[in-house]
Amino acid sequence: MVLTRRDFLGAGVGASVIGFSLWNIPGLVSLADGAEPKKVAEIPLIWVATGSCTGCSVSLLNSASPNIQETLLGEILPGKHLSLAFHTTVMASAGELALETLEKVTTEYPGQYVLLVDGATATAADGLYCIVGENDRGEPITGYDQVRDLSRNAAAVLAVGACASYGGIPAAAPNPTGAISIQELLEREAIETPVVNIPGCPPHPDWIVGPVATILLGGVEALRLDEHGRPAPFFTPLIHDNCPYRGHYDRGEFAEHFGDHGCLLKLGCKGPVTYGDCPIRKWNNGVNWCIQAGHPCIGCVEPDFPYEASLFEVIKPTQLTPPDWFPWADDEGEAKAISPGAAAVVGGAVGAAAVGVGMGAAKLARKDTPPRPESPDEGGEPL
Ligand code: SF4
Ligand code: SF4
Repeated sequence: MVLTRRDFLGAGVGASVIGFSLWNIPGLVSLADGAEPKKVAEIPLIWVATGSCTGCSVSLLNSASPNIQETLLGEILPGKHLSLAFHTTVMASAGELALETLEKVTTEYPGQYVLLVDGATATAADGLYCIVGENDRGEPITGYDQVRDLSRNAAAVLAVGACASYGGIPAAAPNPTGAISIQELLEREAIETPVVNIPGCPPHPDWIVGPVATILLGGVEALRLDEHGRPAPFFTPLIHDNCPYRGHYDRGEFAEHFGDHGCLLKLGCKGPVTYGDCPIRKWNNGVNWCIQAGHPCIGCVEPDFPYEASLFEVIKPTQLTPPDWFPWADDEGEAKAISPGAAAVVGGAVGAAAVGVGMGAAKLARKDTPPRPESPDEGGEPL
């Protein structure tokens, strides 16, 4: 281990709470059963922040079970420990002491540590919009410099949050700081270290720790990423297909104002174009999630976030056909045998009239209806 647990707790992390419902992550159980464990049972993690609001760290710390003791002091899997060696926000140490820790990890474990970055990286004015420290000549170290240098020798870089993954809010027009994503930074510097995007504003704790645990078990190659560089199992289900208001959408029942009952499409919901397991996994230890709390999905896991026009802009729905696995019910709630095509005609006509947007009949503009997400209990494929 890089630091003893006494070292880490001495750095002032002790009162924090960190955790994740690890066993509710598709594929991790089967991976734990079947994969040949890496010889290194602990992988040093370094977490740095650039242009961020710290919300991603707060989200990670907000999970209640297991807590920090179980995660950092216990075994997250039999014989496996996380080794969070450096975290800009959580560490109590600062200045030289903190940077010495960073130096120790990167020197002793070149090519073996995992770098986590939250926040987009400023490039305007030579990156001086984000200064994270000074070198021994008293010159500023920018966030850009730090991410570039730490990325070169990392086993993998996890871009945590919408901003690190795709630029997010700091990179929204007019983007005065020239903020870019971590992937873009590595491409500019011709650094070939693999990048895993974990978007969300903020990301769910499981989305962060699940990939880390997967790397711990099977290496970076065990991660299965989608077209946007995200761990695929977390970001395959369409929000719209698992939303409790989907029946209202199909029947053309839309909320006109916040607090109204009904589908939130007219209030700007991005659920029809957003892929994430939020309705299944839920936040705060499985208690609630955005739409259940009455707020439209703002599409925070998609590369288009925060959407140039407005978070609350009404999008053009791209899916009018309920998936084949949807039951269909009549006005009395009786299940009916009706073809998805017929359902599409009914749902599409009602929805188009109510929303007042031009919609062609059926089918996704972005991609076909994804298959029904596997239950976490069923194991699923590796991440
Ligand atoms: S538009 Fe939003 S609120 Fe309406 S069904 Fe789809 S995801 Fe749910
Ligand atoms: S429901 Fe939408 S806005 Fe909420 S966390 Fe999921 S993707 Fe983000």
